[in-house]
Amino acid sequence: MAIKGTRSSRKEPLLPPKGTRDIIGDEYLTYQGFAEKAAEIAIYYGFKPIETPILEHEEVFTSGLSAATDIVGKEMYSLRTKGGDRLALRPEGTAPAMRAYLSGGMQALPQPVMVYYYGPYFRHDSPQRGRYREFRQFGLEVIGSPKSIYDALIVCLSVTILGEVGIKNPCVEVNSLGCKECREGYRRELSSYYRKHVKNICVECRERLKGSPLRVLDCKNPKCVPIKERAPESIAYLCAECKKHFKEFMEYLDEMGITYRINSTLVRGLDYYSRTVFEIISADLTEEGTPALALGGGGRYDYLARHLGSRKDVPSVGTSLGVDRILLSPSHTPLHPRIIKKPEMFFIQLGFDAKLQSLRVTEVLRKAHIPIAHSLGKDSLSTQLGIAEKMGVPYCIILGQKEVIDGTVIVRAMANHSQDTVKLPKLPEYLKHLKR
Ligand code: AMP
Repeated sequence: MAIKGTRSSRKEPLLPPKGTRDIIGDEYLTYQGFAEKAAEIAIYYGFKPIETPILEHEEVFTSGLSAATDIVGKEMYSLRTKGGDRLALRPEGTAPAMRAYLSGGMQALPQPVMVYYYGPYFRHDSPQRGRYREFRQFGLEVIGSPKSIYDALIVCLSVTILGEVGIKNPCVEVNSLGCKECREGYRRELSSYYRKHVKNICVECRERLKGSPLRVLDCKNPKCVPIKERAPESIAYLCAECKKHFKEFMEYLDEMGITYRINSTLVRGLDYYSRTVFEIISADLTEEGTPALALGGGGRYDYLARHLGSRKDVPSVGTSLGVDRILLSPSHTPLHPRIIKKPEMFFIQLGFDAKLQSLRVTEVLRKAHIPIAHSLGKDSLSTQLGIAEKMGVPYCIILGQKEVIDGTVIVRAMANHSQDTVKLPKLPEYLKHLKR
């Protein structure tokens, strides 16, 4: 019996929660096609797959990111389990990858450890075009090397993946935030500059100044923009080692023919970054009058491991690409996943005995790697032939009452209606020699 107010008495079917959506049919295949291509490129470059839980202990994210970052302060979905643990739906993939590296003893492997991953991430954001509460990222992490060539490799692979799916002229913006030492000097200078202008900045920037001062440079409020434009630039404060690292990184990019521009206000929303940060913007996704949407971004996070309980730093660098936004880009070319095969034959069954045998025949064809279409719920020959004709397959395989008794099938060429009767065990061999 339906109780008033419960789901069973609702008239309207439930929609997915705000900011999430069902991905079905061709759209699902497009996502899968992207993920396969990105994984293939990563594997060519020596990356190995990793999958971490969608739920993590909340502190995986709160230890490396201060409460002043939007992701932790405003956007993270946290929950308390019945046992009292505080868990969070992962808002990003870098901290979980580092957590897995540390807890899985990957320090003992040859360094660096290079991993790639793909999956859903969750942020309580205001949903709009290209911004969802559940979205998918493809990420690459090089964990355990301070060398600038890996920073360049990460940018190069991000651009390569975008290029392989047709994204035209992605614009790469780079910056360096320096190391622990030189970043401190910069942070002081920036704070003191902003304090001089404190009356003219927005309330959020005043808050940021207290907790995470570099993030004032992320502000898009028109009130703060002129102040930001005249703010001290981090690259002017880099120590000799950081300067060398940044210069080498850019030399590698030049060598690989990747065009980029230095954006001195690029700090990225996550405050575990050090030295290199980068973002990839797509001109073709950005609507007039709205801030540019990033297709991906990343950087170096040499100090994150300590926040997650490591006794020493684990220098690392990574990227994450926003798959939903990439697929939304007008220049994106959908790729078909490899598992999707165009049917080459249509299987027709006639009569109850043939229906009984039909799954056996389709299994013989699957084992012979022959993709087929069928309509097992239909009974008449003309209906089934009609579907086959509409699909444009070159051959039909027909199993009728007589064929079941003889252990054969009929192979019919759709072009000239010629037919051959073939013993079932010989069918794969026979089909191999057919012109398709
Ligand atoms: P982030 O970890 O914030 O640097 O995000 C990396 C990439 O993920 C961004 O450049 C976006 O392309 C994508 N992304 C981040 N947040 C969202 C969101 N709420 N909805 C859709 N894509 C997102």
